[in-house]
Amino acid sequence: MHFTSTRNDLQVTAAQAIAQGISSEGGLFVPSEFPAVSAQELQKLVRMNYKERAAALLSGYLTGFTPEEIEYCVNGAYTGTFDNDRPAPVYSLDKERHILELWHGPTCAFKDLALQILPFLLTVSAKKSAPDKTIVILVATSGDTGKAALAGFADVPGTKIVVFFPQNGVSPMQQLQMTTQKGSNVAVCAIEGNFDDAQTGVKKIFGDAAMQKFLQDKKMEFSSANSINFGRLAPQIVYYFSAYCDLVRDGKIKLGDSVNVAVPTGNFGNILAAYYAKQMGLPVKKFICASNKNNILTDFLTSGVYDRNRPFYTTSSPSMDILISSNLERLLYHLCGNDAKTTAKWMTQLSKTGRYEVAPEILAKIKEEFYAGFCDEESTQETITELFKNEKYLCDTHTAVAVKVYADYRKAAGDTTPCIIASTASPYKFATAVLSAIDTEAIPEDGFELLEKLSAVSGTPVPAPLSGLKSQEVLHKSCVKKEEMAEFICKFL
Ligand SMILES: *Cc1c(COP(=O)(O)O)cnc(C)c1O
Repeated sequence: MHFTSTRNDLQVTAAQAIAQGISSEGGLFVPSEFPAVSAQELQKLVRMNYKERAAALLSGYLTGFTPEEIEYCVNGAYTGTFDNDRPAPVYSLDKERHILELWHGPTCAFKDLALQILPFLLTVSAKKSAPDKTIVILVATSGDTGKAALAGFADVPGTKIVVFFPQNGVSPMQQLQMTTQKGSNVAVCAIEGNFDDAQTGVKKIFGDAAMQKFLQDKKMEFSSANSINFGRLAPQIVYYFSAYCDLVRDGKIKLGDSVNVAVPTGNFGNILAAYYAKQMGLPVKKFICASNKNNILTDFLTSGVYDRNRPFYTTSSPSMDILISSNLERLLYHLCGNDAKTTAKWMTQLSKTGRYEVAPEILAKIKEEFYAGFCDEESTQETITELFKNEKYLCDTHTAVAVKVYADYRKAAGDTTPCIIASTASPYKFATAVLSAIDTEAIPEDGFELLEKLSAVSGTPVPAPLSGLKSQEVLHKSCVKKEEMAEFICKFL
C-alpha cells in the first residue's frame, strides 16, 4: 500500500500524503489499492464499538502507523467529544429509510467525524515525514468545515490554522461559530466572494512559489484540512461501515445484504467515502448523489459533461453551494483505470475552459453505480414539513435534499433496498429554514430566540454547542478581497 497522485505516478506514504494534503502538481492523493474487508471481518466489526471499528478500518490505509499510534488518534478524536460517545447513530424512519445522524459532535455537522481525528493523524504524520516543522492548515469553507477544523486544531501544538469563508455565503450561526473561536494558533477571515473564490484562492496559495519560500524560511509547511486531504476522507469511510454494522446488529438487515447510500453532496467527499467503502467490500448497490439547485453533479453524472459555466445559486443548504466538486477528481481517476494522464487532462480543461467531457465507457460505469438528482428550494422546505408532520422527525435542509432525491429514486427505480441516508447537519444549524418549514408564525430575528422557538415547536433540545455561543465574544472581524488572501496569511504567520 502506498499513495499516488491523481495527476502523476509518484509514490508517497500515508504519512506524507496526510502531512502534505495535496500533491505539488495539484493532484489529489489516492491509495494504490483498497484494503479488503472480508465477510468474516465485517462480522467482527458488528460486535465492535465505533472506536474499535475506526481503528480496524483505518489501519488498512495507515500502513506506516503503529497500532499504538492509530489507537492514540482514534481515542483522542472520539472520546468525550460526541453525544453519549456515539459519533454516528442510525435512526430508522421505516424499513427502508435509515438516517445516519452525523451531527452529534462539537460543531453539530458531519465534518466533525473527520476533523476531530485529522489533527491527530496530521501531527503523527508530520512527526514521521517533516519533523521540527510547524504545520499551517489552510481552509476554504462553505460553512461547516471552517468551524469543525477550528475546533479540531485549536491549540494543538505544532500547528497553526487559517480559515477563509465567503462573506455572504454562510449562515449567521455558522459565522458566529467561526468568529468566536478561541485559540492562540487560529485566524479566521471573511472574503468578498463565494465559496469557489475562497477555494480557488487557497489552491493558488498552495501552489505559489513565493509563499512556499516564505514558509520554508519560517520552518513551516502548508497542509489542508479541506476534504481533498486523504486524512479527511479515510475517517468518513468508517461511518458507512458502522451504519451497516448497526443495522445488522439490530436485526434490520442480514450480514451480506445490499444497501443503498444517499448523500447530500457538495465537494463529493462524503459520497466518495461511501464509494471507497464499497471498494473495500461493503455491499452497496447504488449511490444516490443528491444536489440542491446547484445541480452540476446531477448533470455530470447523467450526461458525462462537467460544465461549470452556469449561474451560482445561494440556497438554504449552503454547504452544498459548490460548482467545483474537488473530490470528483478521485472518482474519475479510479474509473479510468488509475490513469493519471487522462485525469490531469480533464482537470486542465476544467481550469482553462470550465468544462470537460468523459468517454462513453466511463459514463456507463458511472451510471451503473450512481443515481443523481437534485432538489429545489421549495421541495427542500416541503420535505422538512412532511417528515416532521408524518414521521415526527426533524431534519436540516441538507438532509432534506437527500431524503427527497432518495424518494425520487425510489419512485423511479422501484428499488426497495434499505437505504442509509446521510444526515449531515443538526436542524438547529439551519434553524430559520427549518422553523419556517414546520411553523407558519413569525420567525424570530435573533438567532438564539430562533433556537429556543425551534426547540419549543419541535419538542427537541437545542444542542449545547450552539446555545453556548450566546455568551461568547466575536474575536475575528477581518474581511479581505480574494487577491489579498496571501497577504492576510503572511501577516498572521
Ligand atoms: C460539507 C457538507 C455537505 C457536503 O459534503 P461534501 O463532502 O462536500 O460532498 C453536506 N451537508 C453539510 C451539512 C455539510 O457541511
